[in-house]
Parts: sequence; C-alpha cells; structure tokens
Amino acid sequence: MKRKVTMVVVVVVLYFIVLIASSKVFSLSKDASVNKELTFDEKLEMLGNINKKVRYFKNDFIDRYIAYKQKHPNLSNDSVVTEVNIGLDQEFYTNIKKSNNLNTTYVLVNKFNYLDEDFVPNKLETIDIKYSLGEKKLVNVARISFEFLAKKASENGYNIRAVSTYRSYDYQTTLYNNYVKNDGVNNADKYSARPGFSEHQTGLAVDVDNVSTDYMHFENTNEFQWMQDNAYKYGFILRYPKDKEYITGYTYEPWHYRYVGVEIASIIHKSNLTYEEYYIKYINKF
Ligand SMILES: [Zn+2]
Repeated sequence: MKRKVTMVVVVVVLYFIVLIASSKVFSLSKDASVNKELTFDEKLEMLGNINKKVRYFKNDFIDRYIAYKQKHPNLSNDSVVTEVNIGLDQEFYTNIKKSNNLNTTYVLVNKFNYLDEDFVPNKLETIDIKYSLGEKKLVNVARISFEFLAKKASENGYNIRAVSTYRSYDYQTTLYNNYVKNDGVNNADKYSARPGFSEHQTGLAVDVDNVSTDYMHFENTNEFQWMQDNAYKYGFILRYPKDKEYITGYTYEPWHYRYVGVEIASIIHKSNLTYEEYYIKYINKF
C-alpha cells in the first residue's frame, strides 16, 4: 500500500515536471508580446540566466533578447546579447543614437551611432605628402602611426598610400548623394555611409592603395597582404571584413582601415571580432 502511494506521488511529480518544461518550450515559440505576462525572473530563466555570465547583459533589453533568440534559435546566448546590444535586431539606420566617446581613438561610428553635422575632430593634421594622394588629414595619433606604418612598408618594398582620410559632414553629403543618384539608395547604402554615419568623419579612418593599382583592387596587391600581417602593429584594423556585412552594415572593404590604437588592434587581429563586437564586449559594457 505504502509503495503504491509513493508511486502515485512520483507519477504526479513527474507529470508536473513535464507540464512545466513543456510550458517553457511552448512560451519560447510564442510571439514576444506574450512575454510581457512573464516576470523578469521567468524571462531570465528562458535565457538560461545568462545575465550572471555575460557582463554586458542589459536588463532593459530582455524582451529584445528573447525575440532575437526566437528568430535565431541556433545563436549562442552570448551572441544574442552582443548582437542585440549592437542593435542588430533593428534595421540599419533605425534606433540611431549619437556616438559616445567623441575625440577618443575608440569612438564607434556606424549605422546606429552618428556624429553631428558640426562635429570636426580635434587635432586634425596633414599626412606627409610622401604617403598620401594630395593633402589628406588624420587625427594626430592616427597621422603619426600611419606615417610610421607607411615608412616601415616602404623600407620593405611596399607602397601604402592614403587616398581618402578625414571627410567633413558636407563632403560626405555630396559623395553619398552622388552615389544615390547613380545607383539608388539600396545599393549606395551597401558601400557608402549616409552623412553623419561615416567613420571618415572621425579622422581615424583611411582608405589606401599601393599607388599603381586602383584602391578598389587593393585586395589583389602584395601591399594588402602586408597590411593583413602588419597593420595591427601600428594600431590599424581592417574595419569592414569579408562576410561580416550583417554586423558592420558594409560589404567587404579591403582598402578601409581604422585607427584604434595598438592594444585594441592586436586583440581584434587575434580574435577576428568586428569592431562592433569588440566595442560591446569591452568598451560599452554595462
Ligand atoms: Zn573608407
């Protein structure tokens, strides 16, 4: 008799465990709006209590994390948090905000973070004409590092030349509008930034060529390989890598480099992170 009672208790307990588990699975597959009925702790549980493991987890974003996880069930929770923090659960150029950390070497400017029309970086300086096409300017530290990089390259038989560097808001407006006129908004957005959203306005970005080949074909030059192996030693990263368009918002640009300083550039070189991911994980953490 006692054994029978124990059996019944076990069955009832098992029944409730199955019920609770299936309701969790069910709630994951339902529309995000249903999550509003759940408590914060229940939502956290749906995400495997990732807040305890991921230091850049933001409580305010919990519904966005859950919705993103539902859309991308194979992504790790860490990637869900990183990508939502970047803003990738929204369309590019929506949910935009002003860039923080202006006039630092780690400022993030992309399709979610913009610079004001009147923002002009401090300490813009002209690059040695030996290493540029006409008069080109970068912010002091980036200018010094770029010249150092170009000098070292040249000593080893490689020509690295700056063909586009700091661009003002107005200049970017002219550029972008011309691209749109010729190619339409959708195409222009893949390779050109809208005014205020261009990294070139920071004075920390540089497009390069090897003097003899058009910069669009920089990837096919020995200089590109040299940059792959050495740019980070001078604080520069390849900003729009291959196959990362969904994060950076730009198609692969083998010619576009961004100064972030040697420490950050070395980490990015080793880890293969995009600058967006690095920024969320190590700079703009909460
Ligand atoms: Zn560029």
